[in-house]
Amino acid sequence: MASDPAFTRRLLLGHGFGVTLLLPAAARAEVSRRPHAANPPRARTATMPLVVLDPGHGGKDPGAIGVSGTYEKHVAFATAEVLASRLRASGHYRVVLTRQTDDFIALDDRVAIAEAHGANLFMSMHADALANHAVRGASVYTLAAHASDAQSAALATRENQADRFGAAKPADISPQVAEILSSLVAHETRVGSARLQQSAVGSLGQDFPLLENPARHAAFAVLKAVDIPSVLVEMGFMSNPHDEAALCAASHRSRVAASLHRAIDGYFASADHLTHIAG
Ligand SMILES: [Zn+2]
Repeated sequence: MASDPAFTRRLLLGHGFGVTLLLPAAARAEVSRRPHAANPPRARTATMPLVVLDPGHGGKDPGAIGVSGTYEKHVAFATAEVLASRLRASGHYRVVLTRQTDDFIALDDRVAIAEAHGANLFMSMHADALANHAVRGASVYTLAAHASDAQSAALATRENQADRFGAAKPADISPQVAEILSSLVAHETRVGSARLQQSAVGSLGQDFPLLENPARHAAFAVLKAVDIPSVLVEMGFMSNPHDEAALCAASHRSRVAASLHRAIDGYFASADHLTHIAG
């Protein structure tokens, strides 16, 4: 495992991201116990895409706290569980969750779990808060050194602070580091992330209100996997009473999961990606 390329590659990240090297134990333990529990034996297992779902926050990190007191971590986990169940039941995907319960997982460890599993897709699920409580609607983010807008930059800053709850050094996401990590992401990963983002925005837009310009980008540390198309989905904002109330309802979360399932199906249905997996 020590020579696993997923961990070796992390040496290249440096500048505050090498901290992952000190933390692979949790990820390794996760890897060693996940395959049997998460991946039911099926004849097609070897060729089925592996989807890593990342419920935001957890444990001592509640994430955003809604205007009525709802914790983002609970909403994110509940929705991710429904989506995981749907994807597994379809028989088309293997699925790994970055956390199984209400645990704190450092941002680097979330990425390490996805890389150690050789994930084909990484989807981080959130419902953060904004200073402007009137803002509502779903949005989908990809990694970029320079944020698409000030609101997205603020969101990424807030999200990257999640590690302040743990023993790990908080992700150093200075402009210089953002530039470095963004430049490390392979071209085909960027293309895949953008395609996944478009699929998710298109699917969510059929069912829910969207944030204005819903396909955005910013320097989210949790999206830095070098070779795994990655997006962060804001299912709504806990700072908006309408979004918070909706996300508190199991029926709404099921609809969100159905919409994201359709988005993932759409992403993998594109011929070039199927060719990539087969190759
Ligand atoms: Zn969040």
